[in-house]
Amino acid sequence: MNGPAGRRAELAAALTAVRTRVAAACAAAGRGLDEVELLAVTKTHPAADVAALLDLGLSAFGENRPQEAGAKSAELRRLRPGADARWHLVGRLQRNKARSVATWAARVESIDSARLAGALDDAVSRIREAGGRDGALPVLVQISLDADPARGGVPLDGARALSDAVAGSRSLLLRGVMAVAPRGADPDRAFATLRRAATGIHAEHPGAEVISAGMTADLEAAIRNGSTCVRVGTALLGDRPLILR
Ligand SMILES: *Cc1c(COP(=O)(O)O)cnc(C)c1O
Repeated sequence: MNGPAGRRAELAAALTAVRTRVAAACAAAGRGLDEVELLAVTKTHPAADVAALLDLGLSAFGENRPQEAGAKSAELRRLRPGADARWHLVGRLQRNKARSVATWAARVESIDSARLAGALDDAVSRIREAGGRDGALPVLVQISLDADPARGGVPLDGARALSDAVAGSRSLLLRGVMAVAPRGADPDRAFATLRRAATGIHAEHPGAEVISAGMTADLEAAIRNGSTCVRVGTALLGDRPLILR
């Protein structure tokens, strides 16, 4: 089966398979299904795919490039006017893009410096004053578990101070932490480290209860280690062009 109907059937089957994996991982960890949110990472895939996933019951979508996300969220509004779609930025954010992100993001998961938090806080505050947004912007502090600066994230020993800075901002709401497991490392060890950091931050900031961890390759390990949000791209939407992975 080709064409839009074929793609919809493919996405429906993939979603069922991912939900089965998540459910099995929750059951194995003795956790409730409602404890783990599924974020569909739609980067490089067209807005039509997002619309199909929306029709299948998903409402949270992750993108890693602000420009692509802004355009795709606008296109989705044309395809599904009034739909309840929430866009999460899961990739690197440059300070000069803070303003545009503040207009469409429901959550920014990649806060990794106080300077970035400050720029985003200013941008969201200005947009709120102009009536362009209700309420503060929920954010996660991205923690680097391998100190590889190319992949983003604040080093583990700076996560506490950054969380305090975010919590003290006017227009950002500290909701928790995010991380990507280091390449080649044991994901259980990495996610256990993340959970310890998250627990420390949560003790200081009761609203910071999100642990965004786990992707196609390692969502089971993440759920075993307390993840409350798995970010799944490939298993739902298929392979991406190599250069954009
Ligand atoms: C691309 C991406 C994902 C999804 O990865 P898959 O392996 O395709 O599931 C999750 N998180 C971040 C930060 C990403 O950039």
